[in-house]
Amino acid sequence: MSGISARRVVLAGRPSGWPTLDDFRLERFTLPPVPAGGLVLRTRYLSLDPYMRMRMDEHSAYAGSVGLGEPMHGQAVAEVLRSEHPGYAEGDTVLAPTGWASHAVSDGTGLRKLDPSPAPVTTSLGVLGMPGFTAYSGLMVIGVPKPGETVVVASASGPVGSVVGQLAKIAGCRAVGIAGGPDKCRYAREELGFDAVVDHRAPDFAEQLAAACPDGVDVYFENVGGPVWQAVLPLFNKFARVPLCGLIAQYNEAGDRLADGDLAETMRVVLTKNMTLRGFFNTEFAEDHYAEFLRVVSGGVVDGRIKYREDVTVGLERAPEAFLRMLRGQNFGKVLVKVGD
Ligand code: NDP
Repeated sequence: MSGISARRVVLAGRPSGWPTLDDFRLERFTLPPVPAGGLVLRTRYLSLDPYMRMRMDEHSAYAGSVGLGEPMHGQAVAEVLRSEHPGYAEGDTVLAPTGWASHAVSDGTGLRKLDPSPAPVTTSLGVLGMPGFTAYSGLMVIGVPKPGETVVVASASGPVGSVVGQLAKIAGCRAVGIAGGPDKCRYAREELGFDAVVDHRAPDFAEQLAAACPDGVDVYFENVGGPVWQAVLPLFNKFARVPLCGLIAQYNEAGDRLADGDLAETMRVVLTKNMTLRGFFNTEFAEDHYAEFLRVVSGGVVDGRIKYREDVTVGLERAPEAFLRMLRGQNFGKVLVKVGD
């Protein structure tokens, strides 16, 4: 079955600052021979995530960078078309690192069989997958939310931020979201149950955020950085905790645009408020916390207490466009590309 004519999206150019469609190229390729004991996979849903932007840089701080002309990396829900692997049968649905491609061959490394019954398989790329686990581990292990405290998170309608807010509510906290535009703010407040949501594009954003946090901020789950961080900084309470998860506002900045003054003020607040600011990658917590995450969050998804939203684009050829929309904040929910049925 290898010898199949497949399609993939490769990195055609290295962006300096904001990427464009010209940085990607769709090409046909012939699937290589299947290794002994291996599998042939057909991609159904591809996950697009902000970290992929960092991998487009030559020196990526976030795992490996993608080589020019090489397929973009990525996780997907895939169907097993053929298997010589004892752990998988034809027709199984798996989570697999296929990259941005319609098909892949695999020796079984990095594969996980999915059970499609408790929740749709796409949730394994979002609320019940890497983004959901990032929210759970960052909030629970670093944020350690206590009842009555105020937890703030930006990208509040996205796959990480939406889970942070809902878990904060379950922990008995006041959950304050930050999102871009009225639709996302309404969704986070009315559907996800945040106590208050502030639009970071509003001219008086900093004042609105302060008003939404009358008792200050105990946990700030940092997803964006930049001006949002500057607005949260004056609001921190003594012993505040900051799980530093991502800095999407900075991923497309060419060069170092952080002014020394900003850093000096950050350091002053971290010191005087006796704060904990801890950067993390979700993978560091997997061994100790993944099983507990799946139990807690899948229970919430199945009984409807934890809600999620997906933003699905149809067609592998449209993956670059969907990716750029996400970087510009034009996605609404977990970004997925439906590659095949
Ligand atoms: P999201 O869909 O939430 O990310 C895209 C959203 O980010 C946009 O819709 C937009 O939301 C927001 N955004 C983009 N640019 C800006 C900006 N300049 N200022 C404010 N908000 C902006 O994706 P995820 O939930 O998957 O990821 C959220 C964060 O978590 C990212 O920083 C990501 O890199 C990080 N992450 C870290 C992991 C780790 O292990 N440390 C693992 C997974 C994710 P809006 O319109 O509401 O502002």
